[in-house]
Amino acid sequence: MSATGELVLKPGKERSLVRRHPWIYDTAVAKVQGKPAPGATVAVRGAGGEFLAWAAYSPQSTIRARCWSFSESDRIDAAWLAARVEAAVQRRAPLAAESNALRLVFGEADGLPGFIADRYADQLVVQFQAAGVDAQREALLDALIAATRCKDVYERSDSATRQREGLAASSGVARGTEPPARIEIAEHGLRFLVDVRRGHKTGYYIDQRPNRLLTRGLAERARAVLGRDLRALNCFCYTGGFSVALAAGGARAVVSIDSSHDALEVARANAALNGQANHDWRAADVFDALRALRDAGESFDLIVLDPPKFASSHHHVDRAARAYKDISFNALRLLAPGGYLLTFSCSGAIGVDLFQKIVAGAVIDARVDAQMLARLAAGADHPLLMTHPEGEYLKGLLLQRI
Ligand code: SAH
Repeated sequence: MSATGELVLKPGKERSLVRRHPWIYDTAVAKVQGKPAPGATVAVRGAGGEFLAWAAYSPQSTIRARCWSFSESDRIDAAWLAARVEAAVQRRAPLAAESNALRLVFGEADGLPGFIADRYADQLVVQFQAAGVDAQREALLDALIAATRCKDVYERSDSATRQREGLAASSGVARGTEPPARIEIAEHGLRFLVDVRRGHKTGYYIDQRPNRLLTRGLAERARAVLGRDLRALNCFCYTGGFSVALAAGGARAVVSIDSSHDALEVARANAALNGQANHDWRAADVFDALRALRDAGESFDLIVLDPPKFASSHHHVDRAARAYKDISFNALRLLAPGGYLLTFSCSGAIGVDLFQKIVAGAVIDARVDAQMLARLAAGADHPLLMTHPEGEYLKGLLLQRI
């Protein structure tokens, strides 16, 4: 596709593009030449007229354009898009040994801003989260099918990001046939059921794969070191990913809490699928449940806190920080000496340093001694493009009470 318009930036606003940051904010644009349609490819020029990038135009978004390429000789056509999709899929090939549920394309990180493609066994699930990739949907679907040889693609373009682009939500079969109600996937030898139509995100929290494996290993280690049966607690358990991993690691009793009955129903099925019978599933609000467990004098050797995004933007950081601190504080008071706490935040607006400060505050208030053993992040199929720090979202800390 050739460019149908041009964006000319204000003086000085070319700097972030020279550093290959992929976003152009509305405030950086001096003028729009031509009449580009939403999602159309435009040439981006500096105030002096120099070429900076090819980008997808988003007239309704504060991110007014997202860059495809910084190379003037590129042509953003179906073949170009297919090459990017193929490269992203190939980069994930080594991860197939870990799981058949993988994120194959992760938007900006893979040079396809706003395009998400996940694979669950032979089912593909896509999200078009920006005007540019929405306008290129057929080419991207063709490319994904060619790169994976899968036939069935389901669309879950129902995220809030899409609204900010002025695009209506869109869900349903994009290619092939209707997916089954639950798709079975395998992750590090454990089996999980995924509902790609109604589940969160595209059905499953693929990003937590390495941390579920870590948790399983921690349970094995703690059992060996403590020399007794372990009790584990998984808060915001969703469909039981961490719960099943904890039990697989040898936790004798696993208490899991989520407010969603639908999620707990899938979680129970997941435990059964893995032949596990030592789970206690509780439908409750975690904030209340943690206090109730404390009042009941309970304690746990391993606790996972993986809440939903508390801060959806920078405006909500203070309130979110209080919520992260509250649950971390209450979890620390339930943690047995020698026990492990894994506490996560998937709020992009809360950076890793701030999150560590919040958790440190919880440790101080809980009057426990704790060491941080590791900082945790999403799996390698959710990479961070080094020129796009905004792409960092999932962060976690592994603490041990001493
Ligand atoms: N750890 C999970 C993903 C967690 S998603 C995994 O690895 O798969 C966050 C979950 O928190 C959702 O299932 C949602 O239903 C639940 N949730 C949100 N607010 C809650 C609250 N206040 N109390 C209990 N559960 C809550």
